[in-house]
Amino acid sequence: MKGELEKKKVKTIKVNLDKCIGCRACEVACSAFHAKPKYSSINPARSRIRMVIDLLNDEYVPIRASEYTKSECNGRQVYTINEKEYSECSFCGASCPARDIFKEPDSGLPLKCDMCEDEKEPLCVQVCRAGALIYEEREEEVEEDVKLGDMETGLKSLVDKHGLQKIADTVARMSQKG
Ligand code: SF4
Ligand code: SF4
Repeated sequence: MKGELEKKKVKTIKVNLDKCIGCRACEVACSAFHAKPKYSSINPARSRIRMVIDLLNDEYVPIRASEYTKSECNGRQVYTINEKEYSECSFCGASCPARDIFKEPDSGLPLKCDMCEDEKEPLCVQVCRAGALIYEEREEEVEEDVKLGDMETGLKSLVDKHGLQKIADTVARMSQKG
């Protein structure tokens, strides 16, 4: 869905792969920040940034969760950068059925990076002592996307999986029980 043109703050996190040491502090901080209540638990499986690590290939790629997708790609991409070949899907942030990351471990619902909402600097950037994550903000005139929040994204994935009628019937049944 597209909206009006408007000025908005664009937030980016640049990744310097040469600096990442695979310490996974970013995963810890993100999962703690998004725990409910905040900082009440740490579980990297709930993190919206995950490390793709291949020790033999000296590969360390921090990747942030992007959109949920109900089906996997028909073909995979493999990138070679500076003569190093990165494993399949290394740079993809999709919450996708082909892999386990970016799904809430208890519910299976998709996770998505929210840039830590109103934090001055995202938590993953704050804790990255190696300086592999660099946060930047800029103003841009963009066509505003109507973004789905966590709840809409979760509902959409449930509807894709079970069908709208089944979800509606379940909600009706639950509301009758109070
Ligand atoms: S905190 Fe920084 S150095 Fe550590 S794994 Fe994450 S991106 Fe890499
Ligand atoms: S910006 Fe915030 S929500 Fe996104 S991966 Fe980093 S810590 Fe997690």
